[in-house]
Amino acid sequence: MTRPITARIDLSALQHNYQLAKQASQGPCLAVIKANAYGHGAEQCAKALEPIAEGFAISSLAEAKALRVSGITKPILLLEGIFEAAELAEAAQLNCWLVLHEQWQVDCLLAANLAHDWHVWLKVDTGMHRLGFSTQAALNAYQRLSMQANVKAIKLMTHFANADDLNSEQTQTQIQAFEKLVDQAGFEGDVSFANSAAILSGLNLRCNLTQWARPGLMLYGANPFYASAQPKLSDSLRAVMTISANIIAVRKLKAGERIGYGSLFQAKNAMRIGVVACGYADGYPRTAMGAPAMVEGKHTTVIGRVSMDMLFVDLHDIPTAQLGSEVELWGPNVAVSAVAAAANTLAYELFCNVKRVKFIYT
Ligand SMILES: *Cc1c(COP(=O)(O)O)cnc(C)c1O
Repeated sequence: MTRPITARIDLSALQHNYQLAKQASQGPCLAVIKANAYGHGAEQCAKALEPIAEGFAISSLAEAKALRVSGITKPILLLEGIFEAAELAEAAQLNCWLVLHEQWQVDCLLAANLAHDWHVWLKVDTGMHRLGFSTQAALNAYQRLSMQANVKAIKLMTHFANADDLNSEQTQTQIQAFEKLVDQAGFEGDVSFANSAAILSGLNLRCNLTQWARPGLMLYGANPFYASAQPKLSDSLRAVMTISANIIAVRKLKAGERIGYGSLFQAKNAMRIGVVACGYADGYPRTAMGAPAMVEGKHTTVIGRVSMDMLFVDLHDIPTAQLGSEVELWGPNVAVSAVAAAANTLAYELFCNVKRVKFIYT
């Protein structure tokens, strides 16, 4: 018998969330499935989305190769482009679209002059200052690329630093900088700027160009606006991943007794506690004391210190809970963002950390 913990992946919820992204952005979308589809399984997710998605976005050639091998034929964008010149030929062979964010990548592409129809996404730094060309450098790169016969399409893209804050002035500044560049370049190709938070909040450019959205987190049903002002559309997301594990022991504490490492939790009154087969070695955050969970259809909380293979849930209000009862640690009834908030992190990190559990796809 294996440990009783699973990650169930609801691929129809994934498709639902993709359709939601398409409706909200009113344009084509690249499904962002980097980092093994945020821990959900890149190949399974890509296959479920292949019939409806315009393309996929990932961060390495290795990921692209695995997708092509598994039969994915839709466009695949390398979000950071190539990492060294030697990757260019394989990127062509795998028919990847490339982000170009550094001068050497542009030089390399132009110098190689491969017999391949390139489709490039020129990344502009409008204020996040992580990747991308300044607007002036972007104009130069755009002009050089435009003159190259084997560059068939150039899109302009940027990325927001604070799209998950509906009131961010930074986002407005970034949009204005991007719009200005599009004007200055007399640009007529496609553009792209929206991640999940920007899609859900309905951000748009004032232009008639085709705007490609890049939904990631929302595809998996997590709400980037948890615990802050949020757009109505967040309510329509459906959780894709359910982490559940069984109760492997029921403990009865007397008033005043403590439980777990550091004896952090103390029972005020006599109570029952469930020991659950999920710990930080499965990716459950060690610091998530007080996080929500669900047992036998009832909401409860994680108490005491999370250990490597186990954690504790409060059963004092749930008399029907017993040995073998299933505990939902996150999923449709327990918002992953709420668990993340209890651990002072984000759903992104929780998803990516899931390991050692059995994945079941439905
Ligand atoms: C990861 C990523 C996204 C998706 O972001 P979400 O917040 O998960 O929607 C979009 N664009 C770029 C450039 C990314 O790296």
